[in-house]
Amino acid sequence: MKRYIFRNGMVLDAPKGFAKKDFAVLDNGKITFKNIPDRGAIEIDISGSYVIPSLFDLHTHIRCPGQEYKEDFEHVTRAAVAGGFTELCSMPNTKPVADNEAIIDYIILEGERYGRCRIHPFGSLTVGLQGEKLARMGLMKNKGAVGVTDDGMCIQDTSLMMKAMEYAHTFGLFIMDHAEDNYLKKGGFLNEGLVADKLGLKGIPEISETIIIKRDIEISRYLNIPVHITHVSSKRGAELIMNAKKEGVKITFDITPHHLSFNEEACLGFNTNFKINPPLRTEKDRKFLIGLVREGKVDCLATDHAPHAKFEKEYPFDGAPFGVSNLDTALSLLYETLTIKEKIPFEKWVGLFGNAPRKLLKMQEKALKENAVANFAVFDKNLEWKVTEKTLYSKGKNTPLLGRKLKGKVSFTFYEGARVYPFGEK
Ligand SMILES: [Zn+2]
Repeated sequence: MKRYIFRNGMVLDAPKGFAKKDFAVLDNGKITFKNIPDRGAIEIDISGSYVIPSLFDLHTHIRCPGQEYKEDFEHVTRAAVAGGFTELCSMPNTKPVADNEAIIDYIILEGERYGRCRIHPFGSLTVGLQGEKLARMGLMKNKGAVGVTDDGMCIQDTSLMMKAMEYAHTFGLFIMDHAEDNYLKKGGFLNEGLVADKLGLKGIPEISETIIIKRDIEISRYLNIPVHITHVSSKRGAELIMNAKKEGVKITFDITPHHLSFNEEACLGFNTNFKINPPLRTEKDRKFLIGLVREGKVDCLATDHAPHAKFEKEYPFDGAPFGVSNLDTALSLLYETLTIKEKIPFEKWVGLFGNAPRKLLKMQEKALKENAVANFAVFDKNLEWKVTEKTLYSKGKNTPLLGRKLKGKVSFTFYEGARVYPFGEK
């Protein structure tokens, strides 16, 4: 392993903020601020860059096994580290579904093979995501599953959801829910409202999200079991969670970069890369969610990276699949939205993509301190880059940012002591 010296970077020392410091990564993969070697190291000037603990994504659709034409381990791990992430939580809607210990084992082993980042699999709550029979949660936990969810296929039967939560809780599994009433959502393609009317497409009402959030709050309160609501999209949904928290309900939630950066009007041009589930809501919703980030009230951020093949997104709006490819661009897009436009200091929110989800999952936090194993990313806030099919490492090129310039980009990522980005000779 080579030694590296990074000079003049702004290093995050949470909760204090950024401080200008030089540091080195030694042969043993550990960070030092005190014993910077005077020779035998690659020296890099990173003035104008932030150094942050490497990022953690709570919600990634890795698509494998089974849908490697959309995404595979090689591409998803490259996209992750190019975006500053060294840990990903994989969603269980693979083919076959991650509802048993063999698939969990496969995902962990395959993920490790590339040595770039760690994949923490989520198993499903029910067999085949069918919402009928509970999955083998204990066996999945033994193989390394960290949480359970029927993401995208929210359990509609409240009694089954209660049983699933009780069962998952006995194994200490993190329970995540994609809050959506299938009957209310049925046949919808984007947020219900003026834009949907203008386009002549059926809308997805906000109540399809909020009614399940409300249900989950009541279940969580009744059973005294924690639940996490992923990708909250509406003001009303977030308000329900805030109020429940005040009452002591053990509920947490995350928001995605796209719900913070765009609103329903983005769909006016029928660009299928804005077709996302839950849908982009109104500007009022978006502004409210940004306000929660500003006030430090969000538990964490999550990408909901949902890669699709190009031909799938070339269908008309009503025929294309939901989802946006996100890992490559998440940090740069949020830097633009939250820090450049909304003037929320970087140090106020970047941890929501790092140690905040680690804490939720009761995992060890990563710190930039003397003798810590190097797990960090360098974010060059002045580096301008253009999002193109070529500059994205994910196999999924389905991002509405295609052709756009972004300011700010990850320039280095270290994982367990080794440089994993940029790629190539170490
Ligand atoms: Zn989802």
